[in-house]
Amino acid sequence: MAEIKLSEMRDLARIERIGAHSHIRGLGLDSALEARSSSDGMVGQTSARRAAGVIVKMVQEGNIAGRAVLLAGQPGTGKTAIAMGMAKSLGQETPFAMLAGSELFSLEMSKTEAVMQAFRKAIGVRIKEETELIEGEVVEIQIDRPAVAGAASKTGKLTLKTTEMETVYDLGAKMIEALGREKVQSGDVIAIDKASGKITKLGRSFSRSRDYDAMGPQTKFVQCPDGELQKRKEVVHCVTLHEIDVINSSLLSKFQNTGFLALFTGDTGEIRSEVREQIDTKVAEWREEGKAEIVPGVLFIDEVHMLDIECFSFLNRALENDMAPILVVATNRGITSIRGTNYRSPHGIPIDFLDRLLIISTQPYTPEDIRKILDIRCQEEDVEMSEDAKVLLTKIGEDTSLRYAINLITSAALACQKRKGKIVEMEDISRVYQLFYDVKRVDTILNGISKPIHV
Ligand code: ATP
Repeated sequence: MAEIKLSEMRDLARIERIGAHSHIRGLGLDSALEARSSSDGMVGQTSARRAAGVIVKMVQEGNIAGRAVLLAGQPGTGKTAIAMGMAKSLGQETPFAMLAGSELFSLEMSKTEAVMQAFRKAIGVRIKEETELIEGEVVEIQIDRPAVAGAASKTGKLTLKTTEMETVYDLGAKMIEALGREKVQSGDVIAIDKASGKITKLGRSFSRSRDYDAMGPQTKFVQCPDGELQKRKEVVHCVTLHEIDVINSSLLSKFQNTGFLALFTGDTGEIRSEVREQIDTKVAEWREEGKAEIVPGVLFIDEVHMLDIECFSFLNRALENDMAPILVVATNRGITSIRGTNYRSPHGIPIDFLDRLLIISTQPYTPEDIRKILDIRCQEEDVEMSEDAKVLLTKIGEDTSLRYAINLITSAALACQKRKGKIVEMEDISRVYQLFYDVKRVDTILNGISKPIHV
């Protein structure tokens, strides 16, 4: 196999970075869940983003079990972008899995297996493990302080270096500090110099007036609770249920001499239901023991009208599982037939499934929105473009589609590079517009009504 050069690897990383939705960093909402006109890479589509924000909130509060969301709107109106924004605003660790309805019919596995794998790619497992602390390492410690005379029990987090854990008492003092309790009580007292962080144990003979005077106002006095020096720390790994499935089924197949290849190629084939059952039992045990937590992610199924009745009934069942991710489906179809039946229904979705869905509609973009999105994409792709060229590209976006206009950015930059230009001009945009056809023109040509192209 040819060796991959470092430069090629960099190029690959860059292709990844400028993926179609790489500019989306969240839903762009403020703390009151109102959509900012342009934020987190998101532009316009304010009511859809607001609705998506309410769903994210419900998910965070654990109120969306067994529910799903439908994003309905014309092609290129940001349905995928909004689903991605939802996953991003749920946090870094939230898994996001994507599947197009049409893919299901071309995969070398049963449709329901493919949906099952997608479901499990969207369910994260946060596994906690304990390891020994290394001297000097910075750690975060969870503190649960039982009630003591005159103070209620409290819980808090404390970050400190292991070298700071000189004695049990010192740690205890820091615990109190972390818990924000500053009242000086009788009994064992610790003084902490706020400037130097130096800790002095004063013991039971502490006299408020004498020691205050002696140590000055920068000193904080706290009472020492019973504490235990922590020598172990918790390490957290995040994986998806699908990754656990693949590793385990590869381990099983190893004994049948088929190897670990699936792990690297992603070519997992069907995973046996017994393997999944064992994994679910194990994960349930870990959850009981407090060693693992489930992080429900977002499963986005685009072109949902391509699913057939069998897939829909599978989804209905899968959503009942208490680990189910948030299912976001999208379609650009109106009334159409439900695949695998002779019935027609809104979006080609069976009524019982439709009834589960919270429906959000996306609206066509205004020219200003198109312009802003193109600006963001130019920045994302490091493409400098003249004002005239941007005006033209916006016009093309209005007449064709946002996605087509976005696609022209990279090719126009290449055309500019070829003529040794510094910034993309109108001529580059016209050139690539003539080179690459949009849907409307292809349609016209295929209908035999070929019209000349004027830009
Ligand atoms: P389809 O129905 O064809 O699947 P879609 O509705 O999912 O289309 P997207 O793929 O999300 O549309 O949008 C097309 C492009 O425009 C993507 O690059 C997307 O990131 C970008 N985009 C869409 N809406 C927004 C928005 N509101 N803010 C910023 N970028 C957007």
